[in-house]
Amino acid sequence: MRGTGTKLEKQAFVQNEVKLQVLVVEDNPLDAALVVRALHKDGFDVTADVVQDESGFTKALRAHSPEVVLADYNLPSWKGMDTLAVIRREGLDIPMILVSGALGDVTAVECIKQGATDYVLKDGLARLPEVIRRALREKTERTLRHQVEKDLAEKVDELARSNADLEQFAYVASHDLQEPLRMVTAYTQLLAERYRGKLDENADKFIGYAIEGAQRMQVLIQDLLAFSRVGRKEACESVECNAVMKEVLQTLAAAIQETGAVVTHGELPAVWADRTQVAQVFQNLIGNAIKFRGKEPPVVSVQAEKASQQWQFSVSDNGIGIAPEYAENIFVVFQRLHARTEYPGNGIGLAICKKIVERDGGKIWVESRAGSGSTFKFTLPSRGPEERVGARP
Ligand code: ADP
Repeated sequence: MRGTGTKLEKQAFVQNEVKLQVLVVEDNPLDAALVVRALHKDGFDVTADVVQDESGFTKALRAHSPEVVLADYNLPSWKGMDTLAVIRREGLDIPMILVSGALGDVTAVECIKQGATDYVLKDGLARLPEVIRRALREKTERTLRHQVEKDLAEKVDELARSNADLEQFAYVASHDLQEPLRMVTAYTQLLAERYRGKLDENADKFIGYAIEGAQRMQVLIQDLLAFSRVGRKEACESVECNAVMKEVLQTLAAAIQETGAVVTHGELPAVWADRTQVAQVFQNLIGNAIKFRGKEPPVVSVQAEKASQQWQFSVSDNGIGIAPEYAENIFVVFQRLHARTEYPGNGIGLAICKKIVERDGGKIWVESRAGSGSTFKFTLPSRGPEERVGARP
């Protein structure tokens, strides 16, 4: 006897035994013994509690953590299906298999719908070991899947937190750096005004370098601040890229005129994104296509084609091109391939483009060879998340 029920132990020695703790819900001791025997015969080293009512069941469940519940459908003072409510109430995931004298197909299907793992008829107990093995396999898979999902959710949370921390850090650091830097700039400028020509030649030169350095640092900090601010997706809407392009070309009008650039574009679609940020991407890419020109006047072409639920854009130019080994580097903050005296800039534009595009679920990359023009490509979603085909409600 164990708890409120009967304890049945294995008697025969069987090779390759698998230990199994079962909880049998059965009013007929002979049937319970037959169940246990069927399992022994098939190589299980069974320890079984036999109970027949809710209180016995709950006690055995708590005391012995069974791996499987085998319940008779009809009991004099309880119902086999009611074991499910107790298992759930106890917060457990234990397969419950009905073992019944007779169970019509309709009832059996209904029981499985309600949560029974399977059913076996008492005159077909030979099937029971395989049914149990399958139930245990499924449970292991379920547990593993839950664990993987839990780990993944934790990692995603962790990543989001560390991203937010980093962003906050970049923002605070660059914001707080501005104040002391303003002092340095102001006082070096004061030094220059008061003492230019009064000290020696070197002093004038050094003060000049200090002012230049401080001004450059101011620009870098402002770029960093701009970088840490971009990419928030709060203002997503359907953005007409033809209209955005018109505005961008107006903004770049002076550079276009100055260099004799020809910028053309095909019919552009609407995308789901932040309008200001889409404009920023186009402006950075077309601006670069003009800036990094070769000997010929720039020829820039902007095109779009549908790629599944996204639009793929391309901005191609006939400029100086990029050697393939730098194709990834150029998207990193402050990475540039040229001295500022050659081509002005701070190396933040492409990093901003990447942040914007990736926040919107897209990708950005370049296809190019040194000396033979570049094509920057990026994708943006064509529709909002709730409209996407296959989106979960
Ligand atoms: P910046 O333009 O301020 O240098 P970006 O982040 O926009 O910064 O670009 C990073 C680097 O990538 C540039 O310095 C340049 O070397 C390279 N690059 C970007 N666009 C082009 C282009 N269209 N053709 C050739 N090189 C480019």
